[in-house]
Amino acid sequence: MPELPEVETIVRGLRRKLIGKKIAAVRVRSARVLGQSPLGFRCALAGAIIREIDRQGKFILISCEGDLLLVAHLRMTGQFLLVPRETVTDKHTHVIFDLEPGPEQLRYRDVRQFGRLEVLTKANRASHSLNNLGPDALDIDAVTFFLNLRQKKRAIKPLLLDQTFLCGLGNIYVDESLYRSRIHPLTQADSLSREQARDLHRHMRRILGQSIRAKGTTVSDYRGPDGIVGGYQAYLRVYARHGEPCGVCGAIIQKTRVGGRGTHTCPGCQPG
Ligand SMILES: [Zn+2]
Repeated sequence: MPELPEVETIVRGLRRKLIGKKIAAVRVRSARVLGQSPLGFRCALAGAIIREIDRQGKFILISCEGDLLLVAHLRMTGQFLLVPRETVTDKHTHVIFDLEPGPEQLRYRDVRQFGRLEVLTKANRASHSLNNLGPDALDIDAVTFFLNLRQKKRAIKPLLLDQTFLCGLGNIYVDESLYRSRIHPLTQADSLSREQARDLHRHMRRILGQSIRAKGTTVSDYRGPDGIVGGYQAYLRVYARHGEPCGVCGAIIQKTRVGGRGTHTCPGCQPG
C-alpha cells in the first residue's frame, strides 16, 4: 500500500503536470472505485480547472476551481498514471480524465479496486473522514509527538498505524522506524521515555525524507505517475528481510504478527 513517501511522490509528479489544466471530460469504466454515483462524479468534474494538488496523510487532494475537491485514496493497488491519449487502456484502468491543453490523459488504474475517488463540495466536506485524521507524520514536532504518546495506553505499532492518531505511516515505515529506534512493536506507547519518543520521531522523519528523495518504496504495485518505480526498497533494513541477519547485531530478523499485521523485528535490537 502506498504510504506517505509514495503518495508525496505521486503528488509532486501530478503537481508538475496538472496545475492549470482543464478536466475536459471524465469516463468511468468501473463505479466500484467511486465514493459516489458516476453521474455525479462526472458532472462535478467536467470542465473543472485544477488549481492545487496536495496530500494529507495518504489522501491525495486535487483542488479545482469552484471549491471542488477531488479526494483520492489509493489503498492497496491504486495508481495515477499520466499517459499519452493514444496509450492502450488495460482492463484495470477504471477512470479516465481527458486533459486540456496537452497530449496526456490522467488515468486511475487499480487492480484490486479497493481505492476510492470522490468529489467533495464545500457542503459535504465537513462530514468526510479527512476531518478525523491525526497530524501528518512529517508535520508533527517532537514534543507534541511525545505528549500524544503519553496519552495512549496502547501498543506502539498499532497506534502508529492508526491514521486518527498520526497520518501517513503504514506497515513498511512503522517497522523501519521502530527497528531503527530499537523499540519493540508491542511496547506500550505511554511507557516510552522522552528520549525514546524523540529518537522515534527523528528516525521516522529521516526515513520518510530519505524515501521521498528515493521516490518511495516499490514492493508490489506502487508506481509514480510517470510509471517509474521507487528506489527506497534497497534501503529497507527489516521490512521483508525476515530470515536475513540484522545489519547491526547479526541476529536473524523475525516476522511475526502484531495487531493482525505482518511485523518485522530484530530480536537483538528490539527485545520484547
Ligand atoms: Zn539487530
